[in-house]
Amino acid sequence: MGDGGERRDQALQTRLIHDGVTRSQFGETCEALYLTQGFVYASAEEAEARFAGVSEGYVYSRYGNPTVAMFEQRMATLEGAEAARATASGMAAVTAAMLAALKAGDHVVASAALFGGCRYVVETFLPRFGVETTLVDGTDLAAFEAAVRPNTRVFFMESPTNPTLTLVDLEGVAKIRDAKAPGALVVVDNVFATPLWQKPLELGADIVIYSATKHIDGQGRCLGGVILSAEAWIKDNLDMILKQTGPALSPFNAWTLLKALETLPLRVRAQTETAAAVADALATHPNVTRVIYPGRDDHPQAEIARRQMKKGGTLVAFTVAGGKAGAFAAANALRLVKLSNNLGDAKSLLTHPATTTHKNLAQEAKDQLGIDDGLLRLSVGLEEADDLIADLTQALDQVKAATHLRSV
Ligand SMILES: *Cc1c(COP(=O)(O)O)cnc(C)c1O
Repeated sequence: MGDGGERRDQALQTRLIHDGVTRSQFGETCEALYLTQGFVYASAEEAEARFAGVSEGYVYSRYGNPTVAMFEQRMATLEGAEAARATASGMAAVTAAMLAALKAGDHVVASAALFGGCRYVVETFLPRFGVETTLVDGTDLAAFEAAVRPNTRVFFMESPTNPTLTLVDLEGVAKIRDAKAPGALVVVDNVFATPLWQKPLELGADIVIYSATKHIDGQGRCLGGVILSAEAWIKDNLDMILKQTGPALSPFNAWTLLKALETLPLRVRAQTETAAAVADALATHPNVTRVIYPGRDDHPQAEIARRQMKKGGTLVAFTVAGGKAGAFAAANALRLVKLSNNLGDAKSLLTHPATTTHKNLAQEAKDQLGIDDGLLRLSVGLEEADDLIADLTQALDQVKAATHLRSV
């Protein structure tokens, strides 16, 4: 497959422009969008051969599609994985991976600090089918170890976590797996780290999952998901689940995401540089009581960040003085930064987790995860750093007045 672009001696940026391209008879420059459900056969014999799997070629877009395959090939390049499969959303990827890895009677150890949908899948959905789950404090390796049972088949985590950007020592978890549950799979949701700054497969993970909705699209257009792993695991365990349960990615969305991969390193590098500058600026503001950024030396787990991430990423969390009133005053005063629960976009987006994405958590769980009422999560976009810092500074300047007015 491909076009001479798949040479491993080329830089990633180069390969993300060329890898995986399948050109039609017209020799188009840009990757073609094969917006089709099915495929026609030259003869009944050819149809028979395709269904028997002895003739290469597509059969039906729920099973595979040329545009989706180009996206999968380029994602495998980006991650350094043997193979990739695309799904309609990040949650479809998580669910399909779990269904492929688990059966009734199995046990999952998962970090409690998970994206809401992921937590629902492991905590509520899987137990309905006889899979037991233990949620642990992801910052505590001993808790992972203590939770292992003879039937543990999956370790599931994200790092950095949403929204407080705490880290899980991925290599540490892989070592616990090797010692206590050999054969179990370490599954990492790598959305917050991005494929650029953290390589879970190199740290001992078996499966990496993305919501392509986030940095991979990066421009707020379409949903998508990706599962990356060893080719044998994908062929033996995942392909039949995807084929027969149908979480297929639309070719149109695959085409959009494929084109987005050409600019992913440029975008994520720029967003990360800006995020680091914004975090430093926030740390100097008198109305900010706490800044959490994995790229800063004052991150509580800076040592792990240096070990497993190349850079701090595009998200910054910070606590505004004055609790909810302070956070709302700052949020409402923003002009450039938009309020939205999404992330990874070219547009900088801000969310107040305690009243939106994490509102369903009990106060005790919020306290455990460090989600205080003044906490804001900022997804840094592609705007000029100085403009973002100016907007955040003027918004935070309003806080004292607003919280002061409230208290008198
Ligand atoms: C957004 C997100 C998901 C879910 O992805 P969708 O594309 O919205 O289904 C899963 N995990 C993390 C960390 C996310 O940020």
